Amino acid sequence: MKTIGLIGGMSWESTAVYYRRINEEIRRMRGGLASAEIAMRSLDFTTVVALQKADRWEDAGNLLGHAAASLNRAGAACVLICTNTMHLVSKPVADMAGVPLICIIEETAKALKADGRKRPLLLATRYTMEHGFYAERMANLGIEIVTPDAEDRQIIHDVIFDELCQGKILDTSREKYLGIIEKMKSRGIDSVILGCTEISMLVDPDKLGIAGYDSTIIHADAAVRFALANDLEIAA
Ligand code: GLU
Repeated sequence: MKTIGLIGGMSWESTAVYYRRINEEIRRMRGGLASAEIAMRSLDFTTVVALQKADRWEDAGNLLGHAAASLNRAGAACVLICTNTMHLVSKPVADMAGVPLICIIEETAKALKADGRKRPLLLATRYTMEHGFYAERMANLGIEIVTPDAEDRQIIHDVIFDELCQGKILDTSREKYLGIIEKMKSRGIDSVILGCTEISMLVDPDKLGIAGYDSTIIHADAAVRFALANDLEIAA
């Protein structure tokens, strides 16, 4: 089994979901007491958010890049940035990592394509919905992203930072998210991407009345496949 490198803390609420899912999958596949080999750098989210707000993406790329390189030194065979938003700087991070970076956008695109989806609604932070990096990479992979209207994008963004990243799960916010999804169904979408790693804490991707794709689980599962690839000891 190869060691999985996680750059977490963005927020730690969702990093905990990655940690649990990766270990659950390793146990499911290998049985008994099996657990994942993981190296983790968990960053202080206040530092990352300050760089986001100041538009200091180069500095953010450096911060995460150094974290990736330290995971390499700690024995990680791959690196995951455990947030969609910070894939805005995935290129410099991948350059500094020295080991393969498993990209959440590519893995989500693969999952959509496997099911023949072409026009998903993206629910994410404003950075992910508005900065262009996510839609561009998806477009290169043949998928056309649809985003909610500006007012709804702000609601989604605020719930992520003011509630979910702080561990607050509110029924009123769940209703808002479900209302936005309902409204967007008339715009020709064929699926919904939970494109922020905390959103599945609030809404169940399997209960949206339309196909839901949870980026956190998709990304964590890709890491497990990488860790166990070429591993002859996988339990049936
Ligand atoms: N975890 C979130 C995401 O997947 C947002 C936190 C961040 O800004 O990194 O985008």
